[in-house]
Amino acid sequence: MSIKVTIWNEGRHEKRDEEVRKLYPDRIDGQIAKGIASSEFEIRRVTMDDPEEGLPDSLLNDTDVLLWWGHIAHEEVSDALVDRVQQRVLKGMGIIFLHSGHHSKLFRRLMGTNANLSWRELDEGDLERVWVINPSHPIAEGLPPYFEVEASEMYGEPFDIPQPDELLFISWYSGGEVFRSGCTWQRGRGRIFFFSPGHETYPVYYNKEVLKVISNGIHWANQKHTSGWTLENWHRKVPLHEKTTPRS
Ligand code: ZN
Repeated sequence: MSIKVTIWNEGRHEKRDEEVRKLYPDRIDGQIAKGIASSEFEIRRVTMDDPEEGLPDSLLNDTDVLLWWGHIAHEEVSDALVDRVQQRVLKGMGIIFLHSGHHSKLFRRLMGTNANLSWRELDEGDLERVWVINPSHPIAEGLPPYFEVEASEMYGEPFDIPQPDELLFISWYSGGEVFRSGCTWQRGRGRIFFFSPGHETYPVYYNKEVLKVISNGIHWANQKHTSGWTLENWHRKVPLHEKTTPRS
């Protein structure tokens, strides 16, 4: 059975910036969808300017793994949508935050921190060398010990996040900084993966290793089972042992 993947892209740079439109004529979500296309994924693409900010309940509830790319319009995302997506994650939907998604209301809500970091955007970019420090993790499947993104925006430490459950990648930049560029967390029944390369003015989503990481991330974040109970606030009025013979 294929994994139902929804790519949520803010989609504003593609409307405003000629440079971004040239690089991603079918938008960032279009290039990602093309780059990870597989019979294992059923991919839907939405933007924040679609009805219901792109995520009506009918689509959200039918999504196994959500990808989130946002940057200049984080504050325009409604708190109501943040509430709905958070609850869906707690019930078991996987979510992958790409690049500047680290500063979205949704990521900050799920982390409980401001998720601030240091950054630098050069015209020619910084060389980013992504070190794979957890090679046995499913998200690292098929990756070499390191790969390079030739032109990248520098995202550096300190990164204001809770301690990751798993740290998969550490990036080094030609400018000298380092960054925890691949991290996972679990919240409720949901799996969260943050992966930092992906600035809109560089061709990052044409990089085959970057696409491999996203594709692996979808497989990892997809819940293997969603049947059964969720983590509710149970009022257990009757002790389990009340009607049984007390053990001597
Ligand atoms: Zn950026």
